[in-house]
Amino acid sequence: MANLDMEVQYIKGVGEQRAKAFAKLGVFSLRDLVMDFPRAYDDRREVRDISGLIFGEMCCVSATVAAPARLSRIRKGLDITRTVVVDGAGRMTVTFFNQSYVKNALIPGESYIFYGRVGGRIGAPEMTNPVFERESAEPAVTRRIVPIYRMTAGLSQRMIRSAVRQGLDKCGEEFPEQLPLAVREKYKLAQTRFAYENIHFPKDMESLEIARRRLIFEELFVLSCTLSFMRTRQLRKSACRIVPDGMETFYDALPFALTGAQRRAIDQILRDMAGERPMSRLLQGDVGSGKTAVAAAAAYAVTRSGYQAAFMAPTEILAEQHYKSLSALLTPLGVRVDILTGGLGAKAKREAQERLKNGETDLVIGTHALLSDKVEFSRLALIIADEQHRFGVQQRAALSDKGDTPHVLVMSATPIPRTLALIVYGDLEVSVMDELPPGRQTIDTFLVGENLRQRVYAFIRKQVAEGRQVFIVCPAVEETEEPADGLKSVKEYARELQEKVFPDLRIALVHGKLKAKEKNDAMESFAAGNTDILVATTVIEVGVDVPNASLMVVENADRFGLSQLHQLRGRVGRGAHKSYCVLFQGAGGETAMERLRAFTRTNDGFKIAEEDLALRGPGDFFGSRQSGLPDMHIASFASDMEMLKTAQSAAKELLERDPELKNAENAVLRESVERLLEKNRGTFN
Ligand code: ADP
Ligand code: MG
Repeated sequence: MANLDMEVQYIKGVGEQRAKAFAKLGVFSLRDLVMDFPRAYDDRREVRDISGLIFGEMCCVSATVAAPARLSRIRKGLDITRTVVVDGAGRMTVTFFNQSYVKNALIPGESYIFYGRVGGRIGAPEMTNPVFERESAEPAVTRRIVPIYRMTAGLSQRMIRSAVRQGLDKCGEEFPEQLPLAVREKYKLAQTRFAYENIHFPKDMESLEIARRRLIFEELFVLSCTLSFMRTRQLRKSACRIVPDGMETFYDALPFALTGAQRRAIDQILRDMAGERPMSRLLQGDVGSGKTAVAAAAAYAVTRSGYQAAFMAPTEILAEQHYKSLSALLTPLGVRVDILTGGLGAKAKREAQERLKNGETDLVIGTHALLSDKVEFSRLALIIADEQHRFGVQQRAALSDKGDTPHVLVMSATPIPRTLALIVYGDLEVSVMDELPPGRQTIDTFLVGENLRQRVYAFIRKQVAEGRQVFIVCPAVEETEEPADGLKSVKEYARELQEKVFPDLRIALVHGKLKAKEKNDAMESFAAGNTDILVATTVIEVGVDVPNASLMVVENADRFGLSQLHQLRGRVGRGAHKSYCVLFQGAGGETAMERLRAFTRTNDGFKIAEEDLALRGPGDFFGSRQSGLPDMHIASFASDMEMLKTAQSAAKELLERDPELKNAENAVLRESVERLLEKNRGTFN
């Protein structure tokens, strides 16, 4: 049996040059090659007579070469090879561009199977550049289901197919089986050899399905085993025990009574942190459910016990806002609160870092700047990450490295299905806050077209006249970008709005390209009620709290994910005023419209998130390309959720019996787990 770690260049027909091209696809070893599954399949099983050909269709036809092929040179760089093929009842012309070898490859009197698109006229069919092989040959590119692979310059489908074929043959009969027999039997999964053979060269559609099922299971199973394995390792570490006293002081200082859900979440967190193992908890609560107060309680407990806490926000605007509200709450209780963001001047930053390092700061609030190597803590015991999914997993790992296995609390308004959460966050406990503070109203949401634009403007005017404030959010479009579909850059949009529509109102603009100070000034002015309308990109999406704002208008709503829209809508309705959300539908198609209509009908973040996940897949669901999910070869976190659950429970069963995968029959699996750990070092928690 071949060693799966063998480099691809040693496979027959590959060599050094093509190995370089394979490397671009991420294929280095024989293992990579056989795991580079086809992205699609072409069903070429049906073979027709010439008389039965249908114009415009791709199909196979069996025919005999009637005359020697003729090669004509049209001009430099263009030659044509042409011949006629026949069967019992018909004739067809076949033409090849720049494939002069065909002249000798097609032997008159021999029968071939041609596969290509049928052209020509009725009664005079033609094929241009068909693939072909002898009728007597083993079917490879005709008469079967043919795999289609990802491509890159320097490789053709034919080369990849042939390399995979050689690769599979090299692996021989003894393809290493990493699924224990008991698991395979229980879940009715095909053998490894069968699966790899049929995922590449399926015998029929049924075999392909059987192969796919096994390989998807296998991939998710190995992933699940890896995560459990890590958890076992994590649980062996010990953490700072936080045994807070005086929590009542904190509760008394709050300007409101906690909701039951907030109480429960705080209890869970305090119990976790009082234990010997590092806490790893996800706090899920819809927009406005009051997660900040819970975070504040956790931070208070830690600082009371003489340790430091770090609170990481995804944007400077949010960091500023948290800094203001948390220092207002906690400074009077003797907690030394500080802020550290990229926007601080060099000197201020250095001083803040000094205080942190010397232990003069108890709670630091910041952005990514907290991850910088220059930031050192003296006794960090708790990391809180707000709106977690916006941080890459690497970034979180970097912060975790700063303390001596600190407790970790991540907060998200996006309800992530538990199965997925397990993968993104590693193994963690989840607290769900399913209750909003009292007195919140539902936000009336409307989907409108361009024809209602003037009425929407009139409505904006009316809200402002009543003393309210308005957000208008546009998709981020840079000035340099070619504006498509009538999209305008926010700058231009804000200018027009000010000049032509609301010359008498106070309009401000926030977008990602502004300097931190400019952003803060604009936000502060809005929060203070000195601005009527805030035009913004999604920088205001998360967390911003302006209770006087009662109307959220979203331009080109079709360009946003539903969870993102839900976040945006959550920026209003935070005070006592009746609030509204108006979506301009934009140029999206009917599917987009259906999505938006569904959105107007519910205020339930959970339903919206599930809808979003089903429609857009997890990459978009998490709102960024860096979803925190590991790359998968064949499984999809969007469509294989059921299988993921099955694989997770199978992994759990197995690890209960063999927690460290020491049994001989789990040796191959253990190797895969180690490999995955290695590949994702610093990625998994
Ligand atoms: P989110 O969960 O979206 O981060 P916040 O923590 O920003 O929510 O809280 C939203 C608003 O609700 C804030 O203005 C906060 O002061 C207020 N709030 C939080 N908890 C309560 C409560 N128990 N009763 C009343 N208001 C609360
Ligand atoms: Mg928040």
